[in-house]
Amino acid sequence: MSDPLSLYDICQECENACCTEPGPPYVFEEEIDSIINLGKGNFLVKVEGEDYYTIPRPNGCPYLEGGDCSINEVKPKDCKIYPIGFTLDLKPGISVDCPAKDVLSEEFIEAALNIIETLTPIQKRILQETSFRDGYRFEEIKK
Ligand code: SF4
Ligand code: SF4
Repeated sequence: MSDPLSLYDICQECENACCTEPGPPYVFEEEIDSIINLGKGNFLVKVEGEDYYTIPRPNGCPYLEGGDCSINEVKPKDCKIYPIGFTLDLKPGISVDCPAKDVLSEEFIEAALNIIETLTPIQKRILQETSFRDGYRFEEIKK
């Protein structure tokens, strides 16, 4: 069965911009073991004074291999849901910068919203604040 959260073709055309440009993904404590256990290396760094981690990527994400995410099945929820994220008032939104923003399938949006449902209010706030700080902007999803 195909992965409703795969944007593989359009991400290839976009040259994996969101895996190579500044603004690393953020990773929650409960996501760490499955990433490390996959054996692709531990590039996680704890954010000082916080209880979540990031994946520094001065030259692109270290998990990006041959144009694809080498930890795809366990990649952080932050990566899984993008270009879905949060508006300033913490509603689910779509990134205005992603070339896939106008062609997202209903299945993609539904799958991303299901993942968002698993986040705690604090985790939603963390993803919202970090993405806005890193320059990402999200428009509310139109129904
Ligand atoms: S910006 Fe959008 S199209 Fe480009 S790599 Fe990221 S998710 Fe894919
Ligand atoms: S973990 Fe995977 S999807 Fe996330 S930034 Fe790195 S390569 Fe891209």
